[in-house]
Amino acid sequence: MSKSKIFVVQKHYASHLHYDFRLEIDNVLKSWAVPKTPPTDATVKRLAVETEDHPLSYADFEGTIAEGLYGAGKVELWDRGAFKPEKIEEDKIVFELDGKKLKGTYVLLKLKSSGKYKGENNWLLFKKKQQDGGAGDLPKNDV
Ligand code: MN
Repeated sequence: MSKSKIFVVQKHYASHLHYDFRLEIDNVLKSWAVPKTPPTDATVKRLAVETEDHPLSYADFEGTIAEGLYGAGKVELWDRGAFKPEKIEEDKIVFELDGKKLKGTYVLLKLKSSGKYKGENNWLLFKKKQQDGGAGDLPKNDV
């Protein structure tokens, strides 16, 4: 029996505001820093910079990281819920999220280290378009 996996997004008021997007993979929280609000619909793609893994217990962290420490600033929970991986490859992760703000099928795609996005740790985070269910587009609210 496997426990369902989680994702968490922590809004981090560090020197640059960002969203720490974390997925439970291999018993750690694989982590990406997303400089802008994570996408709630399929019209936007966000840069997501891979950062260090965090322990699962960090999913519950909210509070203020003290001045002088790495990442100093307030951390607050932005979203959290069930994470269901569909495909995990070295450069592509496809998964379902069932949170309060983020729901649906998402993709993390690793970018080649060239052009606009130099560096080894750059990914794109985006939401897949809904399969046509015949009932029109779902509203773009944040429920
Ligand atoms: Mn952070």
